[in-house]
Amino acid sequence: MSNMPFPQQRLRRTRRTERLRGLMRETRISPDDLIYPMFVTVGEDVRNPVPSMPGIFQLSIDNAVAEAKKAYGLGIPGIMLFGIPEHKDEAASGAYDPEGIVQLAVRAIKDALPDLLVITDVCLCEYTSHGHCGVVEKDSGEILNDVSLELLARTAASQAEAGADIVAPSDMMDGRVSAIRAELDREGFENTPIMAYSAKYATTFYGPFRDAAESAPQFGDRRSYQMDPANAREALREVRLDIEEGADIVMVKPALPYLDVLYRVREAIDLPLAAYNVSGEYSMLKAAAQNGWLDERAAVLEALTSIKRAGADIILSYHAPDVARWLAENHQGS
Ligand SMILES: [Zn+2]
Repeated sequence: MSNMPFPQQRLRRTRRTERLRGLMRETRISPDDLIYPMFVTVGEDVRNPVPSMPGIFQLSIDNAVAEAKKAYGLGIPGIMLFGIPEHKDEAASGAYDPEGIVQLAVRAIKDALPDLLVITDVCLCEYTSHGHCGVVEKDSGEILNDVSLELLARTAASQAEAGADIVAPSDMMDGRVSAIRAELDREGFENTPIMAYSAKYATTFYGPFRDAAESAPQFGDRRSYQMDPANAREALREVRLDIEEGADIVMVKPALPYLDVLYRVREAIDLPLAAYNVSGEYSMLKAAAQNGWLDERAAVLEALTSIKRAGADIILSYHAPDVARWLAENHQGS
């Protein structure tokens, strides 16, 4: 009797072939899970490497269309667009300009690839001269919440007008989801869903993104409107608020250092849940791989599988094209 394996041991010992292991596998990552974030900038044939994010570039619209075609060809269902405007000002006018960089990029990409989902980042930090996500009062340096809401709502509506399939507010201002929902409805975009960055932490892992999007705050930091990394229950409150305000998809950002938050949100709500595998998470694995310290492919697939295992339906990741390519190779190899 003492030599009899427990059922769990028997299963493990029996799993001798990859097919049997596959049969027992609880979580599978697929290109269908992925959204590829991209940075668009002005000019033609521009391909500026982002030094802290090897493999990631600021792309002019022509090159962004080519890159989007590649992603689409790999089976990635959607991309997320961030804009780097020609001019920045205190009113973030580039964010809601009908001829702004993101609006132009959306039109070009949707023209070329009508079936590719184009999600637009709704925020002001890439467009403000000071790099904050809202309008700043000159004397106090405080973020003016309600003035910012108006501009965010205009930004979302102008992106929907350009053809964005989903708008994704990342600013964390109070009341932004309902302000954006109201403006979209008023402008005739009742069917445009909102993917809300609901639990967005004030993390150090956004560092490389700020190089890529040229959006580092010129003074202060974003801790007055982003969440304390030490808090998990607060994430649930933020998520519930966004859902009450009309969010269709909610997001936890970053992903890997916050898998517990992702899991808690998954347990608490039944809307589609997105996780943003942020720039710092990407750069860490890239740097380790470049040094020969980690097997990039194995590490990335394990990391993304863990994000899905924690409960994400949608994973936004700069690794998306590589992952889609590797999965296709794995599939051919089996
Ligand atoms: Zn922002």
